Amino acid sequence: MGKIDILSLDLQELQNLLIDMGEKKFRAKQIFQWLHVKKVFDFDKMTDISAQLRESLKEKFCINRLFVQKRLESCIDNTVKYLYRLHDDNFIETVLMEYSYGYSLCISTQVGCKMGCQFCASAIAGFVRNLTPSEMLMQIYETEKNSGVKISNLVLMGIGEPLDNFENVIRFLNLLSHKDGNNFSLRHVSLSTCGIVPKIYELAELKYGLTLCISLHSADNTARSKIMPVNRAYNIQELLKACRHYISVTGRRITFEYAVIDNVNSSDADADRLAELLKGINCHVNLIPVNKVRERNYRTAKNAVADFAGRLGKRGVNATIRRTLGSDIEAACGQLRRDTVNENALNGGA
Ligand code: SAH
Repeated sequence: MGKIDILSLDLQELQNLLIDMGEKKFRAKQIFQWLHVKKVFDFDKMTDISAQLRESLKEKFCINRLFVQKRLESCIDNTVKYLYRLHDDNFIETVLMEYSYGYSLCISTQVGCKMGCQFCASAIAGFVRNLTPSEMLMQIYETEKNSGVKISNLVLMGIGEPLDNFENVIRFLNLLSHKDGNNFSLRHVSLSTCGIVPKIYELAELKYGLTLCISLHSADNTARSKIMPVNRAYNIQELLKACRHYISVTGRRITFEYAVIDNVNSSDADADRLAELLKGINCHVNLIPVNKVRERNYRTAKNAVADFAGRLGKRGVNATIRRTLGSDIEAACGQLRRDTVNENALNGGA
């Protein structure tokens, strides 16, 4: 039998396993704090644990570290992009961004993605597997170690669809915010989804303080279905119904993400439809210039984002324009992993 991934266990589960091993319950909390507070990933360095118990822990549990395969630093801003190699030689991306209020980390939730959004590089390299809770946590812990900074904000906007890996993402959020562990406030977490409607209802029930972001990108079903296949399963009206429910249950405002794409979603008629759709909803619109993906032809003309923001403003919709960070280091999700997977394939590797 394989070893148990200790960093994915909650305190209660760890307590039960230690009791089964004939240990005292309080040992679990000590170990939990070594991992989640002191971020010590070597059982031999857990100095208040007896040598005998440390040996038993090594036999029963594993701590899967992430390895920095590539680290790209932007020359324009302080954005740093990490390509991490996982224990099974898969790759994921994590992006560290500096803002006036502190450091924000963009983490991946899956190796690849199944959702097939046309403008997204993650869709091109294909789906491999879900990330475990520990692999999501380790993106934070390893990046903090690597960079020496404290992360104050977290966005689940890297590779993958978080609501397509629901159980692991929820376990990750519970571990991240555990009061005996890292104690990270979920108010400082944003979770972005392409719109898996049943999971939005499930998430609402948990009443977390996080910010739910919806990748909308069009208020027209025909146009949205073309660029986002998920719209064929859950259309805009079903999605907005789920959003209204989410807001009423959690009391939290939703962010709608909208990548302004030439000839797809930036006309006056698009602004009309969006204004009509969002009327009376407690929300905020975040406009994004499309990040160029080599294999695709989607573009955002120079002033298109500001123009569209102006169109929305005239219709009473408040929109902010997302700052583009790390534009010189392919910080758009999935681009670095796709390149590395391709390089390895060319070299006869995985
Ligand atoms: N699967 C989730 C989270 C990952 S993508 C989701 O769909 O929301 C994070 C955000 O980046 C989403 O809003 C996504 O639509 C957007 N995105 C992906 N590729 C992009 C690109 N090339 N240019 C601009 N935004 C992009």
